[in-house]
Amino acid sequence: MTRTSPGCAPIEKTVSVTVARVTFSASRNQRYGYDNFDTPGNPRDDHICVKSADHTFVKVDIAGGAIGTDFTFSCENASVEAIGPPASASFDLRLNANVSTFKMDTTLHARCRCPEAHSFASLAVHVYSEKRVQVVVAKIGTNLGYATADYASHQNTENNKLKQAVVRFEISNFNADNSVSRVHYDLDGNGKLTYDIANGGGRELDAIRRAMTGTGTKTRVAIVRDMVSYYYLNADAPRGQRWVTVRGGSTFYTTGDSVTLGSGATQETLTVASKSGNRVNFTSALTHAHRTGETLEFPAAGWSCDPILIIEGNTSLDTIKWTIPHEVGHRNLSLKDVEDRTNVMHSSQGGSDYRLRYCPRRKTYEAGTENQWDTIPR
Ligand SMILES: [Zn+2]
Repeated sequence: MTRTSPGCAPIEKTVSVTVARVTFSASRNQRYGYDNFDTPGNPRDDHICVKSADHTFVKVDIAGGAIGTDFTFSCENASVEAIGPPASASFDLRLNANVSTFKMDTTLHARCRCPEAHSFASLAVHVYSEKRVQVVVAKIGTNLGYATADYASHQNTENNKLKQAVVRFEISNFNADNSVSRVHYDLDGNGKLTYDIANGGGRELDAIRRAMTGTGTKTRVAIVRDMVSYYYLNADAPRGQRWVTVRGGSTFYTTGDSVTLGSGATQETLTVASKSGNRVNFTSALTHAHRTGETLEFPAAGWSCDPILIIEGNTSLDTIKWTIPHEVGHRNLSLKDVEDRTNVMHSSQGGSDYRLRYCPRRKTYEAGTENQWDTIPR
């Protein structure tokens, strides 16, 4: 830089100017998760995770002419170590989590090698212990549509998604030869498993539970052909009333649900307008009178009871296989149903992807959001 002024000789000073932009992003070689916080244009709010005492990779791109060796890559907590970097403007940076912990958060910085060590970019780093869940899957009954399905063989496909939250499943089939278990559970003879929601299952689930022995501490999953899930009226509901009350303290209904009330000649289908505690309000009046003990159906493809119940229903085998990590997610990972079709915990079947996220997901059946990586008990 040269300063000139009348009556004064030019004054020259030399300064170093570094112009660079460092960007972190998900590496194709990453071994756990990376969450861009749903803002692909803004890498500053991104998060990466790595298993305790293991390593992963993060992609680094440097614009402006500088290269990796112009920077120091380091975490605020030195137990997470960045290896390298190479003399290149685009590379995978290895992160070693040299720590044995259930959970630890730190921040990775790319600092220039000047004395002031300015941070050109940062990334939130989460170290988690791996959550391992042993799952055993039984095919139950004489009427299965997918009697030869091999649910244990889907383990690696599931783990490829679950690793995004440092989770690993070990799935086995209940019968070593993967045969069907012929358990007589259909005690009311409706061709389906009848599930008493407020009672945590009831007698037909009990019959399956008694048959699934020798599974130790593994999480048990039972696949059945079909199921019907009921709440039971706890008071008579006269014709013309626009609501009913059921046994139990609350229900899972959401506005707009189409529900079947009662059976036989007085059965009718209603639309849920709202709910409050054990009361369900409809968009129209009852066209028949209903008595205490009659059923109000809730459409469910699975329950995270013990054993976890999953129905074949009318869905594809692939969808049934992905319902297993969803229900085990409720039971073993403490995860709620969320509204995100790309998430394994999406509240209905048939999503487009099966991710687990750091960026909070909106919960379906209660207020607020859930950060899934941090929610999983370690
Ligand atoms: Zn669910």
